[in-house]
This record gives sequence, structure tokens and C-alpha cells, in this order.
Amino acid sequence: QAKRMGKNNYQFYEKRSMEQINDRLELEKDLRKALEREEFILFYQPKLDIFTGKIVGVEALIRWQHPQKGMISPAQFIPLAEETGMIIPIGEWVLRKACLDAKAFREAGFPPLVVSVNLSLQQFFQPNFSQMVGQVLTETEMPPELLELEITESMMIDTHHALMIVRELRKFGVRISLDDFGTGYSSLHYLKQFPIDKLKIDQSFIRDCLVNSNNATIVKTIIAMAHQLQLEINAEGVETKEQLLFLQQNDCHEVQGYLFSKPLPIEEIQANFDDIVKAASQLSKVDPKLGL
Ligand code: C2E
Ligand code: MG
Ligand code: MG
Ligand code: MG
Repeated sequence: QAKRMGKNNYQFYEKRSMEQINDRLELEKDLRKALEREEFILFYQPKLDIFTGKIVGVEALIRWQHPQKGMISPAQFIPLAEETGMIIPIGEWVLRKACLDAKAFREAGFPPLVVSVNLSLQQFFQPNFSQMVGQVLTETEMPPELLELEITESMMIDTHHALMIVRELRKFGVRISLDDFGTGYSSLHYLKQFPIDKLKIDQSFIRDCLVNSNNATIVKTIIAMAHQLQLEINAEGVETKEQLLFLQQNDCHEVQGYLFSKPLPIEEIQANFDDIVKAASQLSKVDPKLGL
């Protein structure tokens, strides 16, 4: 009896892992066709300067509209895209699309905004990456100072190579920010070496900075350090007015998060631009004495 149970269990696990493998293979097959089938779309999350009350930019965030599975988040398919190398054409598509959307946005009479684009490790270290960026800038007539590329700490580990690429990118005049700061292979040594413009404090520190005093300290320290190094600072994942106030009190200028706006399709940003501008100016006036 025990033996049979054991065998059944074994078959059960074997079947489950087969299913997982099949799911993955199927997703991978679909991912390979997603580009030509035009199933990817970019959403944009506005960023706000809480001292001036102005919208300072937007971050491009990819989504996959799967014909059967519906909207798939990047957390689910970017790792697969990295493993399969699909991230190279997908990443290039994101960059080109973001620059084209920015152009259409300017041509529609909206103010010029900085657009930030996330880079992945594979993409960043692909041969000719910076050449590709230069080509897209020219092709899409993108003013380089309006493009911000978000790199991660994981890229800095291969310091020599990464520095070379970052320098090439900066020669174009694009901006570089360091995303998810504090979650990766943080080294102050790297920070000092790399010519970056901005640190983005990871949302995991912002999430409970008001209930977790360790996180509050980390956030304050990162902000102070950024000021010392003359880097701009962004806080992501701001969901409450209390968090906003905390950041304001600690001299963090740029924020993004659901409190201000979720990521939206470009059409919605355009259609609701006046409301977004108004919300930005109201949020900058949040005053503890007047109540939240
Ligand atoms: P990220 O670059 O750190 O982007 C911030 C993520 O936080 C986004 O998730 C955004 O929707 C979410 N977020 C923004 N505000 C809030 C908030 O107030 N609360 C909460 N809980 N979340 C908030 P999303 O769009 O699912 O993207 C997840 C990650 O996927 C990104 O993290 C980035 O690492 C990656 N990713 C997204 N688009 C691209 C892309 O085009 N290329 C590459 N290589 N990676 C991308
Ligand atoms: Mg990002
Ligand atoms: Mg981030
Ligand atoms: Mg992140």
C-alpha cells in the first residue's frame, strides 16, 4: 500500500512538473510570435515633482496582451524573454515605440516630457547596444535629453564593461538612472564611479517607510547620499499622502506611484492630461497642518 502511494505521489509530481514545462514551452512559443502579432503595448506612468507640482516625465512599462490569457505583466514574461534572448528584439521595440510615442505627444502640442525606458541585463550587454540606441534616437528624432535609460545594479557588477557602455550612452546626451536602488548588488564604490543622473529608491523601502523604522532610515539615508553625490532622486511606489509627506520632509523631489497615477496607455495620458496636471499641482500642496 505504502509503496503504491509512493508511486502515485511520484507520478503526481512528475505530471505536475510536466505540466509546468509544457506551460512554459507554450508561453515561450507564444512569446516568440508576440512581436510580429503586435501583442505588446506600452503603458506610461507619470512622475511628479512634489515641490513644483509639475509632471516631470513618464516611465514606459510594457504589457503583453495575450490573445487567450489576457494582459500579462512584465514580471511574468521579462524573465522568460531574458532567458530566450527574445528580450533583444522586444527591448528594441520598447525603445523605438517609446521614442515614437514621445514624438507624437510633442507633435500633438503637449509639453516635452522625459520618457524613461527600462533596460534588461541581456539587452544592455548585447554587442552594439549603444549603437542601436543611437540609431533609434536619430530615426525617431528623439531629443536625447528627453530619454532616460533605467539600468540596474546587476549591470554594474561587470564594472569595466558596464562603464564603457554607460559612457557611450551618455555621449549621445541621454540620461541614466539606477532603478530599484537598494535591492541589488549595492556598492557605494560602484556608485561613485558610474556617471549616472538619478537614483530610484525601490518601492519595497517606500511601501512601509512609515511603519518600519529601518526602512524609514534607509530611505532617509539614500536621499541624503544622493544629495551628497549630487544625484537626482526618485521614489517609486508612493501610494499614500503620508508617504508623500515623508518624502517631501526628507527632500525627495521626484515621485511616482498609484497615489498620483497608475501606468496608463498613451491615449489616456493625452485624454486626461489636464486632470493629471491638476492632480500634480494639488499633491504638491499637501500640508500636514491642513490635514491630509
Ligand atoms: P520597475 O521598472 O521598477 O517599474 C515599477 C513597477 O511598479 C511597475 O510595475 C509599476 O506599474 C509598479 N508601480 C508603480 N507605482 C506603484 C505603486 O504605487 N504601487 C505598486 N504596488 N506598484 C507600483 P510593472 O509595470 O508590472 O513592471 C514591473 C517590472 O518589469 C519593472 O519594474 C521593470 O523592472 C520590468 N519592466 C517593465 N517594462 C519593461 C520593459 O519595457 N523592459 C524591461 N527590460 N523591463 C521592464
Ligand atoms: Mg523602472
Ligand atoms: Mg523600479
Ligand atoms: Mg522594480
